[in-house]
Amino acid sequence: MNIVIFGSPGAGKGTQAKIIAVEHGLSHLSSGQLSRQMLNNKQLGKKIKGYMDKGELIPNAIIIKIVKDYIEKNKREKGFIFDGYPRTLGQARELDKLAKQSKTRIGLVINLKLDQQEALKRILKRGKSSGRSDDNLKTIETRLKVYKKLTEPILGYYKANGILKEVDGRQSITKITKEIKKIIKEVEKKK
Ligand code: AMP
Repeated sequence: MNIVIFGSPGAGKGTQAKIIAVEHGLSHLSSGQLSRQMLNNKQLGKKIKGYMDKGELIPNAIIIKIVKDYIEKNKREKGFIFDGYPRTLGQARELDKLAKQSKTRIGLVINLKLDQQEALKRILKRGKSSGRSDDNLKTIETRLKVYKKLTEPILGYYKANGILKEVDGRQSITKITKEIKKIIKEVEKKK
């Protein structure tokens, strides 16, 4: 099954995606991680850094290529867990198209719900040890704004598709993992 782990910056998507990927044998696709790995790229590194440091989205022409290349290299029978992708309605549609071409689909979207105030606090805390140049107040504020404006509306699209499940992101890591695993089990049973 292919899963999208959804939520605002700081909601805990990366932490959960990593755990679920290992436990369910899925490939973990983190578009943020993949973008950070591209920072040393001669052609695109500087450009990507410019967007990331401002907290803005990397243009589709670049990010979709990065995502597609990763999918191509990491195809597994059991599927992917998408973390940080899609971030716009356009990307969500592109992902559906890609899945269809591979004769598969997104079977589940888990929204880790967390309010913006809590998200801000968490990322600032993470910034002390993450070494990420975009974990600073000014950039985080932009990232949260971008999330509200461009990313959150995707929820309506997934809700209409009937594959959206919500989890309270304020809970402990262990509790959230447990809930996600329960949801996956239920969805797999229905297949
Ligand atoms: P993340 O690690 O998911 O918080 O992403 C860090 C940064 O990478 C974001 O603020 C964007 O600049 C960029 N990025 C990650 N995923 C995407 C995406 N799907 N579309 C556009 N930009 C992205």
